[in-house]
Amino acid sequence: MKILVINSGSSSIKYQLFDMTAALVLASGLIERIGEPQALHRHIDRQGGVEETERKHAIATHRDGLLEIGKVLRESGTIHDLSELSAIGHRVVHGGEYFREPTLIDNEVVGRIREMIPLAPLHNPANLMGIEVALQAAPDIPQVAVFDTAFHQSIPQHAWRYALPEKLYSEQHVRRYGFHGTSHHYVAKQAAQQLGKPLSSLNLITLHLGNGASAAAISQGRSVDTSMGMTPLEGLIMGTRCGDIDPAIHFYLGREAGLSNEEVETLLNKESGLKGICGSNDMREVHRLADAGDERARLALEMYCYRIRKYIGAYYAVLGHLDAVVFTGGIGENDARTRAQSCAGMTALGIDIDSEKNSHRGEGAFAINSDASAVSILVIPTDEELEIALQTVACIEEES
Ligand code: ADP
Repeated sequence: MKILVINSGSSSIKYQLFDMTAALVLASGLIERIGEPQALHRHIDRQGGVEETERKHAIATHRDGLLEIGKVLRESGTIHDLSELSAIGHRVVHGGEYFREPTLIDNEVVGRIREMIPLAPLHNPANLMGIEVALQAAPDIPQVAVFDTAFHQSIPQHAWRYALPEKLYSEQHVRRYGFHGTSHHYVAKQAAQQLGKPLSSLNLITLHLGNGASAAAISQGRSVDTSMGMTPLEGLIMGTRCGDIDPAIHFYLGREAGLSNEEVETLLNKESGLKGICGSNDMREVHRLADAGDERARLALEMYCYRIRKYIGAYYAVLGHLDAVVFTGGIGENDARTRAQSCAGMTALGIDIDSEKNSHRGEGAFAINSDASAVSILVIPTDEELEIALQTVACIEEES
């Protein structure tokens, strides 16, 4: 069973082709700079070893990009025709309150995803472009939308409502939605496997720490709170996003610094976070600067980990009982120092890292808690594409 997963961004398309029967990635790739004079198409063929090719030429539209992906897959012999695909799974960032599960795409679903554009103006239009082009290119193949927000639709109202006038929710849909749901769900399932217990019996705090970052409180396998809000700006400190701040800062900047709404939006989304504090949004560089004695970088690390600690504490209180803390994402998976500092001082809560285990590097999931730690602490590589493929299969099997 072959499943193509597509993650269509505003000027890029990421893809992975899975053989779900053999549990293999057959090929993957990324087209960047669509619409610019020279696009870059990196393709990795994984049949019998890893063979990477790079093509640079103009790819004017997402349609051209998708056609090229089909061509490369055919030329490399991965598939002979798109009709060999059992389904195509599409990442969609915002499913609002309407989509609680992966959904087979038809015209009505396309219309609903379009309705969500005001909630995710940077993402949903690009996701839709990928869907529309794929529907044209392969009209007979089932296509499934998998939403970043869906996993968090189980959050109870007292956690997703903001303390704002009711009509802002009922008329303008202002509420917490949460993101990274596909990743939180995937690592939660992997944690259950690692712990040898059903997910429905587990309380977890999952920490997705990549360029964007979010925490989720998972009770009996279901998301009950998450740190990102109506947009991915709220919560943890991120590469360039500020996370939680006093909303009055926005008015103050307008009034006292003369910044427009758009300028504040750019400031908080693109010029804040680690980058705002110390000049770099790349965690490896932040460590390099801190190790060289840069005080701003040291402060950035301290603030970053302090915010994570606050969320672990808050979500521990939300859950009452905690089975495991799970680290994932580029930083969560690779940065032992961030993991150690984020869990520091919590031995009394039963959260205790073993520094030797924490310094382990390698493939796959591993535990980093000490033997005395009541709570398991796990490092689990995320795989959002695989999770989209798995959910796509589950969706088409349910429909058939
Ligand atoms: P995205 O959210 O774009 O998918 P990633 O999950 O790849 O991003 O995470 C990117 C972040 O991971 C960057 O800040 C990068 O510096 C950090 N990172 C990657 N490898 C390491 C490492 N070995 N040590 C510390 N940070 C790392």
